[in-house]
Amino acid sequence: MKKTPFVTLPQVQQITEQIPTPFHLYDEAGIRRNARALKDAFSWNPGFREYFAVKATPNPYILQILKEEGCGCDCASYTELLMAEAVGNSGHDVMFSSNVTPELDMRKAWEMGAYINLDDATHVEFLEKIAEGKMPETVCLRFNPGGSFSLGNTIMDMPRDAKYGMTEDQMAGAVNRLQKLGVKHFGIHAFLASNTTANDYYPELASQLFRLAVRLRNATGAHFAFINLSGGVGVDYRPEQPASNIAYIGEGVRKKYEEILKPQGMDDIAIFTELGRFMLAPYGHLVSKVLHQKHIYREYVGLDACAADLMRPAMYGAYHHITVLGKEDAILDHVYDVTGGLCENNDKFAIERSLPEIEIGDILVIHDTGAHGYSMGYNYNGKLRSAEVLLKEDGSFKLIRRAEKPSDYFATLDFTEFKFNG
Ligand SMILES: *Cc1c(COP(=O)(O)O)cnc(C)c1O
Repeated sequence: MKKTPFVTLPQVQQITEQIPTPFHLYDEAGIRRNARALKDAFSWNPGFREYFAVKATPNPYILQILKEEGCGCDCASYTELLMAEAVGNSGHDVMFSSNVTPELDMRKAWEMGAYINLDDATHVEFLEKIAEGKMPETVCLRFNPGGSFSLGNTIMDMPRDAKYGMTEDQMAGAVNRLQKLGVKHFGIHAFLASNTTANDYYPELASQLFRLAVRLRNATGAHFAFINLSGGVGVDYRPEQPASNIAYIGEGVRKKYEEILKPQGMDDIAIFTELGRFMLAPYGHLVSKVLHQKHIYREYVGLDACAADLMRPAMYGAYHHITVLGKEDAILDHVYDVTGGLCENNDKFAIERSLPEIEIGDILVIHDTGAHGYSMGYNYNGKLRSAEVLLKEDGSFKLIRRAEKPSDYFATLDFTEFKFNG
């Protein structure tokens, strides 16, 4: 589908009068609309809940909007737990899905009363030590089926190469030990394919996890309270790509639920999701200004944003659509490499991309940067992290994170032994 920005040039000009580019801009109306569509798609399941993957867009204002839409937080680290807590999430509002877990992090999750998702069988003992007799009532276990994960004839991913989760035997052993320690209810979690717009991913994953729940219940007698389908539902980064159809996905999971869990009397199981990308990616733009143009063996357009603001193209060769604001309907009769200014030749937002004629000072919108955008940012070349701006439902805007200043970049250094004029 044709990709249209959620802002116009005059709207962005109004923002840039106060907040210089580059910045990440988020669309509150879109975030809310999409969160409601997800909730609708799973409304057949009374216990359904989305735990937003905080790592995708760690900003309390975003978490607040999602909280108002009924979402909890999925955290993987101590600081993510702190942020979730700051927004008023407590107890079962929080899912703690981490791996290689430090003690500080595990302790914090336990203190908050979060659902703890154990990545490894040895984490049973680890949690037992921290809990000192006060084990949580409910514990989640992360599954790794090994082998390959396929939809029809298409291999989606290779769980056997992934560092996450435990084998089925380890899970059964963990359930037995946890029951002896007083744990009453269990969850099952797995994340087997990333960023897929194949609408059958969740239904297929659900069917595997539902069957696993039946086998584990039969083997251990344990009560399974929820199945966490985790993240992985993708978005249409490319205009020619289909978007995920969340209503179809929800219905597909419902059919598997009816087919597998209901006949087993296990239809009190809640469905949880931990989506990040699907919740936020399309509702974020990286807004950037053209600083420079050069004509050598190719045509280059240089922006004030760089890979430190959006790592995906440099890291994965990921496609992000680009719109030149004010030239939305112009013909795409020029071919450019659109770059940032890092001393790294992979700092290119687009390679040989057909775009309208671009001039210095034009404002470009890089699409679908609302998830895994700002959050994967870094400070290479001393580049400072950008601001984050929220476009509110009423059309006004709010600065929800200021841009870094040099003093932020230098904050962890002690210059007393040096001459520093910063
Ligand atoms: C990254 C991650 C997610 C979110 O993944 P998306 O692809 O952004 O939906 C959810 N759960 C876990 C454990 C993750 O690591």
